[in-house]
Amino acid sequence: MKKARTVKPSRSKQSSSAVQYFAKRTTDIVETIRQLVEIESPSDVKQAVDRLSTILTGRFEELGGRVTLHRSEKYGNHLQADFRGAQKSKPVLLLGHMDTVYPIGAISKMRCHEAKGRLWGPGVLDMKSGIALMLAAIESLRSNSGGDEGILPRPVTVFLVSDEEVGSPSSRKITEALAKKSAAVFVMEPAYGLHGAVKTERKGVGEYTIRVTGKAAHSGLDFEKGQSAILELAKQINAISNLVDARHGLTLNVGTVRGGTKVNVVPGSAEAAIDVRITRNSDGARIDRKLRAIRPFNKQCHIEIRGGINRPPMERTKGVAALYQQAVKIAKELGWKLQEASVGGGSDGNFTTALGISTLDGMGGVGDGAHAEHEHVLISELPKRAALLAKLIESV
Ligand SMILES: [Zn+2]
Repeated sequence: MKKARTVKPSRSKQSSSAVQYFAKRTTDIVETIRQLVEIESPSDVKQAVDRLSTILTGRFEELGGRVTLHRSEKYGNHLQADFRGAQKSKPVLLLGHMDTVYPIGAISKMRCHEAKGRLWGPGVLDMKSGIALMLAAIESLRSNSGGDEGILPRPVTVFLVSDEEVGSPSSRKITEALAKKSAAVFVMEPAYGLHGAVKTERKGVGEYTIRVTGKAAHSGLDFEKGQSAILELAKQINAISNLVDARHGLTLNVGTVRGGTKVNVVPGSAEAAIDVRITRNSDGARIDRKLRAIRPFNKQCHIEIRGGINRPPMERTKGVAALYQQAVKIAKELGWKLQEASVGGGSDGNFTTALGISTLDGMGGVGDGAHAEHEHVLISELPKRAALLAKLIESV
């Protein structure tokens, strides 16, 4: 007969059992994602996002969270759920968004379904799977600590915004206030690539419009009396393109141009929209100054510049690097090699990193096709991601 084992299981045994724990719950996690995807939630339809936050309020309350809805007039209400911790420490902030880029009705063309080991549907990757992972991790931590009143091993705050896909205009202040009170921030946005890298660097994002007012005139009868806004705008676009410094990650893209009325009219107005990306915080203020200093080549034209840098870059600060190292260690115990990535797109993690709060982004689902028709998550990766999140919450 074998002797009963009295030795404590090794750390790696405990960890791989964490993946097994979530593997057994994969069907439930997938069901939750499907439910969240089927409640469509475009950023610009308040009622729709509110429907989702109501459902999620119920889910977080079931787990013992205390929910606060931050009312927003224009966008959906933002959802905050606070969980008490057995240990007295600063909370960990789990950050995410409920809104998607898809209009109501997209679900009828992009039916949420399982195929080839993947779950497909609008917003499934960005980032409804991230929300489902939060729920799964919190549920496991709750049962681990034996608490039935929402006591987790440590305090956790969940914050789900409703306007991330449109630049977080109404939620930014709340995100920043919550981050300042937190020990660390995990952003549940999708991982990078099919190898599931976390994001330790993101570009900052700005958006500007340049509007030129000239003077309209008949192109045949009064050509000399006209002042072409399109000609002025064309010269400005050329000047703007000279500000690009791609080597240092600074890019300006004139993405749309509009102007004029008829082919036989000297155009009296024209405008363009500019997307700005920066990797260095200092470039933000510099580019903003340069764009605002634009003066017309043709003194008869008037120029108006609107917009600004709305997300500072997420720089790979010491805090970010330390959190990444911690995640690498845990992933190794769980049995895989966690990589990091630097990406061009911004998220709310840019705000929290800029405040000096340790942040790890891309903690959500692994898949492909965010914002596109083939959006999907890999089902087999879900248990690993949930286990990583749960272990990290406990360890920071
Ligand atoms: Zn997202």
